[in-house]
Amino acid sequence: MNASTNAAVNTDRAKVVDLRSDTVTQPTAAMRAAMAAAPLGDDVFGDDPSVNALQTALAERLGFEAGLFMPTGTQSNLAALMAHCERGDEYIVGQYAHTYRWEGGGAAVLGSIQPQPLNHAADGSLPLADVEANIKPDDPHFARTRLLALENTIGGKVLPMGYLAQASELAQRHGLSRHLDGARLFNAAVAVAAAEGGDPYAAAKRICSHFDSVSVCFSKGLGAPAGSMLCGSRELIRRARRARKMLGGAMRQTGVLAAAAHHALDHHVARLGEDHVLATRLAEGLQGLPGLTVEAPQTNMVFCDVDKEIATQLVAHLKREGVLSTGLYKLRFVTHLDVDAEGVDRAIAATRRFFQAQA
Ligand SMILES: *Cc1c(COP(=O)(O)O)cnc(C)c1O
Repeated sequence: MNASTNAAVNTDRAKVVDLRSDTVTQPTAAMRAAMAAAPLGDDVFGDDPSVNALQTALAERLGFEAGLFMPTGTQSNLAALMAHCERGDEYIVGQYAHTYRWEGGGAAVLGSIQPQPLNHAADGSLPLADVEANIKPDDPHFARTRLLALENTIGGKVLPMGYLAQASELAQRHGLSRHLDGARLFNAAVAVAAAEGGDPYAAAKRICSHFDSVSVCFSKGLGAPAGSMLCGSRELIRRARRARKMLGGAMRQTGVLAAAAHHALDHHVARLGEDHVLATRLAEGLQGLPGLTVEAPQTNMVFCDVDKEIATQLVAHLKREGVLSTGLYKLRFVTHLDVDAEGVDRAIAATRRFFQAQA
């Protein structure tokens, strides 16, 4: 890639404030340099030094024995479910959890694992009385309840640490394994560290101490182009490696991606706090518009309740003004590495213009 091509792309992108998701980030120059410099090998033979280094580094940081680099978070979650569960087992999961609602039914289709979805409390948690009531007795009528799967952050919300401890205790008391979809684990960790003091890596490790496995995305707020990692015990990762192969996710010189992820792990964790500040700035700027109820963000996502029809019109209006958002259930804006205060202010101004035109 030559510099002039890159510059042209960047200039073009600068016109648009893309708040659809934190997945839209471009690798930084330093990240691209790390990718270009990465030593490579065939990871299916276990020979890629960059992949091996990343797997060791993240597992150690999160307090697990082993890690496994995955192409996507969807596959990482599915491999985890298949490593924890056998055919005919069941996992307890939230109605809006990615591992239930947003993964094409993969656990059922490819893993023969039955979901038991539960409604979320307002804070995103699964009420523990509901979890307990849905653990099936050992009886041939029922699927075998084998796993509790939580997500943190969930819809941008941070599950309270005390809740994680209680959920973990309940799962263990009933012999269930515990999986965390921590696609945005580090957003949760940065928020916990900001509230309680301490550093985000230590907070991430504390969160993970309540789980047998965790899946982390590098391609969300951390800003890598692709890649996720599953962490767990050596035995669990051995099983997940088999699942990954079956699912077609064993890649070769994938150290180019692992190097990007490693760069993100070392340099892009603490800065997630900046995204959280910008989300708050955006939420505050959107306050007080008629018909728009803004939820106070805990991390990098701003959700607004608005009439479905208005939401569709607003998303289209914002797009014409060069501001991208989504309006599937609620209006959603996500801050990330490639958004700054000026972009957020443009989004606020464009939204205000929409409501002024309505009035
Ligand atoms: C993005 C995401 C995933 C994984 O998504 P991929 O696009 O497959 O990498 C899993 N869980 C949550 C909560 C996510 O937001």
